Amino acid sequence: MRSVIVIGGGISGLAAAWELRGAADVTVLESRPRVGGKLRTGTIAGVAVDEGAESLMALRPEAVELAAAVGLGGALCDPAQSPTTIWTGGALRPLPAGHVMGVPVDPAALAGTGLLSPAGVARVAAEETLPAEPLTGDCSVTDYLAGRFGREAVDRLVEPLLGGVYAGRADRLSLRAAMPRIAALAEQGGPLLPALRRMRAAGAPRSGAVAVQGVAGGTGRFPAAVAAACGARILTGTTARALAVTPSGRWRVQARTDDGPLTMEADAVVLALPAFAAAALLRPHSPAAEEELAAVPHASTAVITMAFARSQAHFLPEGNGFLVPPVDGHTLKAASFLSNKWPWLAAAAPDLFVLRASIGRIGEERLLDRPDRVLTRTAVAELHRAVGPLGEPVATRVTRWERGLPQYGVGHRERVGRIREAVAKLPGLAVCGAAYEGVGVAACVATGRAAARQVLAA
Ligand SMILES: Cc1cc2nc3c(=O)[nH]c(=O)nc-3n(C[C@H](O)[C@H](O)[C@H](O)COP(=O)(O)OP(=O)(O)OC[C@H]3O[C@@H](n4cnc5c(N)ncnc54)[C@H](O)[C@@H]3O)c2cc1C
Repeated sequence: MRSVIVIGGGISGLAAAWELRGAADVTVLESRPRVGGKLRTGTIAGVAVDEGAESLMALRPEAVELAAAVGLGGALCDPAQSPTTIWTGGALRPLPAGHVMGVPVDPAALAGTGLLSPAGVARVAAEETLPAEPLTGDCSVTDYLAGRFGREAVDRLVEPLLGGVYAGRADRLSLRAAMPRIAALAEQGGPLLPALRRMRAAGAPRSGAVAVQGVAGGTGRFPAAVAAACGARILTGTTARALAVTPSGRWRVQARTDDGPLTMEADAVVLALPAFAAAALLRPHSPAAEEELAAVPHASTAVITMAFARSQAHFLPEGNGFLVPPVDGHTLKAASFLSNKWPWLAAAAPDLFVLRASIGRIGEERLLDRPDRVLTRTAVAELHRAVGPLGEPVATRVTRWERGLPQYGVGHRERVGRIREAVAKLPGLAVCGAAYEGVGVAACVATGRAAARQVLAA
């Protein structure tokens, strides 16, 4: 049986290990004490809470299918149904249904939300009348969408969504990589509003379908279940430091563990790492891949989880949370009302109201220089302004994700093409993870499984 070392025990690496089960002898190296990477469940006031990703894309099948395959089918759960809300202009305002990453489909529905000024709504409606040559090449989200819908729509509708998913900014993110559905329509030419309406009519999700699902007990259960089911040897506390090719053409991995150095060999290696970590290991083997991977920018964020005692709270908000456009000048980027959103959490902690706030987009790194207590105080103060007087939390927890989210800048897809071309010249080596074809968990699972198939086929 061939041997494979998977470096990185986040969901991408574990999905690769799962794909290799039965076909190879697999070892997963993970530098932290636990597998899971950005799927991490901690506790606050004795309750399980997600500190990183809290949901799995459900309209795209890869993550929920794998979760079901590893025995978590019964734990998959829908969030409470509630419209996405934007905190802007001093109020929480719902995004109209049917939007695609904030791009509106129905200007009339938008008019009732108060999200845009009357002039801003009129500018959105005018999109239908603007000539639209087919888009060729890539450009930033702002460059394309502000020209179509006006700057106000980008600032107040699209920016908050991009901040929520990528911790990114519309003027830096690639339309093709960060908003592929919109880019595909733009490449066909013609106004977007009628095309979006047609797309919605033709491909509307099945009735009752939800866009995301959670895992009862926390998404951290997902990587743990994949690790247990894949049959791989999992070495936690093991950081890969260098890669070499042996005279017989096998891969040698030098790692550091708590017990000292470790050297292992295998027929193939899967790098399931953030771009900068993969770059460092590839330096001696492919300067081209190293250069491209090292050039992928990353945003840092902090998640501040808070528990309020229901008995002491002056007021508890409704809905699942809100997103914040940077144009309003607030520090908060988003808030998720976990006790409203996830029934499993409400049942586990009926006396508490648990929420999480997030801070930090690309370019806002200085905000995160503040100590935990200052971040928490800022978050509480802004939550009071956004939703009302919540009172003081009885427990708080700050989780920092330094360089946690790769940024798909203009030309990202071409960059990924060049990385994949360079890596293809290294026999028995494949790469996967959030840096390539999507940051969401479902996309990561897809890249992990594809990387496994590549090394098997090699
Ligand atoms: C705060 C936050 C919230 C998010 N929310 C969502 C969400 O709700 N839904 C969603 O779909 N996506 C969400 N995402 C994105 C998604 O969680 C990640 O993109 C995805 O989990 C990345 O998985 P990965 O395996 O590619 O990388 P990672 O999770 O980063 O895993 C890589 C692993 O490699 C390990 N490692 C690094 N270097 C080495 C080395 N040299 N040797 C050994 N191991 C090493 C790391 O410790 C890590 O465990 C969120 C991301 C963040 C940061």
